[in-house]
Formats: sequence, C-alpha cells, structure tokens
Amino acid sequence: MSRKVPKRVFLTEDQMPTKWYNVRADMKEQHAPYLHPGTMQPVTLDDLLPIFCTELAKQEADNVTRYIDIPEEVQDFYKIFRPSPLIRAYELEKALDTPAKIYYKFEGNNTSGSHKLNSAAAQVYYAKEQGLSGLTTETGAGQWGTALAMACAYFNIPLSVFMVKVSSEQKPYRKAIIETFGADLIPSPSDTTNIGRKILQEHPGTGGSLGCAISEAIERAVSTPGYRYVLGSVLNQVLLHQSIIGEEAKMQMEVIDEYPDIVIGCAGGGSNLGGIMAPFMRDRLEGKRHPYFIAVEPASCPSLTRGRYAYDFCDTGHVTPLAKMYTLGAGFMPSPNHAGGLRYHGMSPIISKLYHDGYLDEAVAVEQTKVFDAATIFAKNETILPAPESSHAIRVAIDEALKCKESGEAKTILFNLTGTGYFDMHAYMDYKEGKMNDYVPTDADLEQGFATLPSIPGIQ
Ligand SMILES: *Cc1c(COP(=O)(O)O)cnc(C)c1O
Repeated sequence: MSRKVPKRVFLTEDQMPTKWYNVRADMKEQHAPYLHPGTMQPVTLDDLLPIFCTELAKQEADNVTRYIDIPEEVQDFYKIFRPSPLIRAYELEKALDTPAKIYYKFEGNNTSGSHKLNSAAAQVYYAKEQGLSGLTTETGAGQWGTALAMACAYFNIPLSVFMVKVSSEQKPYRKAIIETFGADLIPSPSDTTNIGRKILQEHPGTGGSLGCAISEAIERAVSTPGYRYVLGSVLNQVLLHQSIIGEEAKMQMEVIDEYPDIVIGCAGGGSNLGGIMAPFMRDRLEGKRHPYFIAVEPASCPSLTRGRYAYDFCDTGHVTPLAKMYTLGAGFMPSPNHAGGLRYHGMSPIISKLYHDGYLDEAVAVEQTKVFDAATIFAKNETILPAPESSHAIRVAIDEALKCKESGEAKTILFNLTGTGYFDMHAYMDYKEGKMNDYVPTDADLEQGFATLPSIPGIQ
C-alpha cells in the first residue's frame, strides 16, 4: 500500500534541536512568584540554592532568556534515544473511520519508558558539573525514579530515591530496575527522616503519597553535605527541558508540510504537556497561528477542572516553596488510580497560568475505564502498548477524531504518547477482568483537600 506521507517521520541526529525553548520569555504575564514557606515572601535565588543545583535554580528563575543551549554532554546522552519519531496513526484513523489526521510523538523508546529521561539527563548533568556528591528524589509510579537512576548511572553520581510505599510494593520490577542502575531505594514514608517518622506516627500503616516522599527527599538532601534535590515535573526547569519534544515535533511536521489544529497532552504535573505545546504556544503568543490546546487529567485527581487557583505547598510536609497553581490542596489524598504519574495534587505554575489566562484552551477530566478502552483500541491498531498516563491523551485524541467523523472536518490532531505500559499490566488485567472502578471524588471530598490550603495574610 502506498502512502503520500510516511508512517514515521524521523529526524537525523544532526537535525536534533540544540536549544531548549523557555515559553516564559514570550508569556504576556508571568506566574505569581514562589513564596518562601517560612516568611511567605517571594523566594530569592539564595533561598533555592540549598535545595537545587545552582544552574537549575537559575533556570527556575529565568523568565527572559527565550532559548537556552542544550549542553553538548546532554545532547550526546539525548542521542542514545532521540530524536524520537513522530508517527501518523493511520491504522487508528482507519479503525475510527475518521477524516481526522492523527499524529503522535512517541517518547517511550527508552528503558525508563517515558519522556522523563529528557529532564533527568539535564538535571544530572548540571549536578555533575557542579561537583555535587549525590542527589535525592521521590518517585510515585516509578518512571521518574527509573529515568533519574539511568541518568545518574550515565553521569556516575549517587542517588537516593524515596518511592511511595504502595507503589514500591505494587511494582517490584520498577524497584529492581532502579536498583539495577545503582540507586538506593527507600519506601516512603520511612523512619530515615524526621518528617517520615512524624507521618508514620500520625498515620500508622499509611501507603504514602507523592507529597510525603517529596518532603523526605528534600530533608535528606538539605541534611547531607554536597547533596541536592531534583524533581521530575511541575517546575519551570522541567518544562524547559521537555520543550525538546515539541521542538522536534514541529520540525517533523514541517518536513511533511503539516501543522496541528489540536495539540493534546495528559497532565500530571504538566511537564510533557508543556513540552509538546512549547513551540506551538510560541506561535500562538506571537499571534502567528492559533492551535487549540487540550490538557487531559484523571477524573480521580482533577486539579485543572475542579481545583482552586491558589498558593499551595508542593508537598505534604510543607517544606517546599509555595506556588500559585491549580491545586486540590497538598492534603488531598487521591484515590488509588492506575495512572500513578497523574496523581499529584497541583499543576505546573506555567500550565496553570496559561490555563487561567485562556491560552491553554481546555482541560478535560476522564475516567479510567474509558482511558483503558482507548488504550486497548490504540494498542491493537498501532501495536504500541501505551502507559495508562499517556492513554489519557489517547482517549481525548480519539474523542476529537470521532467529533471530526460527525462534522466531516479533517482536522490535524497531535498528541504526546509519553510512554509505554509494560509495568502497568496489573492495571490492564484489572480492566480486562472488569475489576477497574471509576472513582470520582465528591465535592465534599474535594472540600477536605481545599481545607488544607494555607492562609497567607494579605494574599489568600
Ligand atoms: C510522569 C508521567 C506523566 C505525567 O507527568 P507530566 O509531568 O504531567 O508530564 C505522563 N506520562 C508518563 C508516561 C509519565 O511517566
């Protein structure tokens, strides 16, 4: 069968972008400043230096430099798994009988199984450059911990990963991979930190949460000489590194003379969405083009669609700076959901600001059985087994394509396929056996989370 355009659009190594794009340089208004958790005053660079690597703290604060060079060592690492392919979902289109053209950027082609390696590579490189003796982090579902362990092995730097206890028990293979790459894995909450001991005392038997693991990882970093803490999503620096996804996708679409009408990403902390959107948002902010942007989140953890736009802590232990973002409250405990990478109470301050100001057009919350319906259709037709997180974007890409079938419009849809689901087979089994439920928090459940929002004199 002959086709006008190829199934996969590859770029060569030489064509890989050499700069990250910092969308904040083009935003009309900046997100509200981070606040110091003790003083409730805007944080300064000096406040960030004990927690973050120096170069990353600078990137976190930088809202003026449009393009930032990707260090050559990071480019070399990227070349092991990038440029990633842009794929036309012909088979899916045929199965849906839609006139829409569906493209996806596939970020699952590395052992971590997700886009998180894009930022891990950068963060570990800067840590090494600074001569640090080690790093700490948290991981929920395990993708970030794996990506970071890979990058730490590559750049040869020690790593301690606090893994949400339920996840470490549910996903023993994730733990084994992280340890294979040489990192130290501690189920959280643990008795190795003050905050961990406190949480264990207050909630004996708890399975832990991402916010709690963050608190432990930060405590370990600031109390160990030469250590810093690194985070895999939410932060400005992470969205910056993930811009490589969108920059490549835009170049690939140009090769085949295409431009998306709709850009879709799943949203946990907002980093892959920020990444795939980046250059298209640049066009929008410059008034050149007007693609329609959609964020997709789980109905069980609906920060954009049902959260408050408010200052909140990024962790349960209240040791991080406060960020103004769409949040369900740092005390919100999301129900068990198979898309572990999307179970976070807050949302990137950049994504939150773009959504609040109407540049990110729409946020959609979807229920997990519908997500797995979409994952299964996608797997059968495109032959890639998608991660549950990524399948949120697939769900909405399919829904948009079906709308096109109704209206007869041949829209061009681009979504980010953030990863593969090989470690999520338990979820696929539950789905197949009809054991998966669609828990949606009630308004009363959400109120409990909102009650944990801090009150800040003169601000909220
Ligand atoms: C972590 C993760 C996500 C969600 O994180 P974002 O920061 O919102 O991108 C999505 N997909 C996969 C496969 C992940 O591992």
